[in-house]
Amino acid sequence: MASRMAEEKAITVCVRLRPLSRKEALGGAMQDHWKTDNNTIYQVDGSISFNFDRVFLNNESTENVYEEIAVPIIDSAMQGYNGTIFAYGQTASGKTYTMIGSKDDLGIIPRAIHDIFNKVKKFPDREFLLRVSYMEIYNETITDLLCDTQKMKPLIIREDFSRNPYVGDLTEEVVYTPEMALKWITKGEKNRHYRVTKTNQRSSRSHAIFRMILESREKDEPSNCEGSVKVSHLVSVDEP
Ligand code: ADP
Ligand code: MG
Repeated sequence: MASRMAEEKAITVCVRLRPLSRKEALGGAMQDHWKTDNNTIYQVDGSISFNFDRVFLNNESTENVYEEIAVPIIDSAMQGYNGTIFAYGQTASGKTYTMIGSKDDLGIIPRAIHDIFNKVKKFPDREFLLRVSYMEIYNETITDLLCDTQKMKPLIIREDFSRNPYVGDLTEEVVYTPEMALKWITKGEKNRHYRVTKTNQRSSRSHAIFRMILESREKDEPSNCEGSVKVSHLVSVDEP
């Protein structure tokens, strides 16, 4: 997971171990081959080892991961720093479990959405405008997941006046409640399935990029005073 934090450290890389599935356990998988020691994970025979900023063991919850890794990124996004949370790993390693989760055990994205709306209340002198966008990258093609399926067309990467790249024509929806944001995610997921089925593409090679745009300004400043406006992007990337 990578992040741009307000502190010195710009990137945090951690690994989350998940419990073995029944089938894996019966087959005597992995756990016999890998051991952990603090933030190192190594093969029992000593041949390979990897160091991380943090190793989350299989008895640690998504809440642990969220509090330790995501909260600092969200706090800096509230203050105007861009942040990205990226889950990477092979199929069935636990990316969706960690990022999306379930109704009973929310993943990082829904937790972040609820948290951001709560944290807005802690900045009573700032006025927030929150927007979401959701796109998919497959091969070189970018698709808007929030527009209606019949309007779906490949989007183009453009540059603004400061030569910062952006995706042209990407839908950005203003959200006033966590429920609204979550509804847009559901719509995006539906579009994604529709598109994958229709074009017969293997979804495992696509990346879905959900972005929350946090814009805030000081309440007492006149609206034409650009200096008080902060805009940051909180991005999360999931492979299916
Ligand atoms: P991925 O998205 O990387 O392909 P999933 O998130 O779908 O993988 O996880 C694969 C399976 O393992 C799912 O059945 C999921 O519920 C389970 N799983 C993943 N991580 C954990 C965990 N930390 N604790 C319990 N079950 C988990
Ligand atoms: Mg998945």
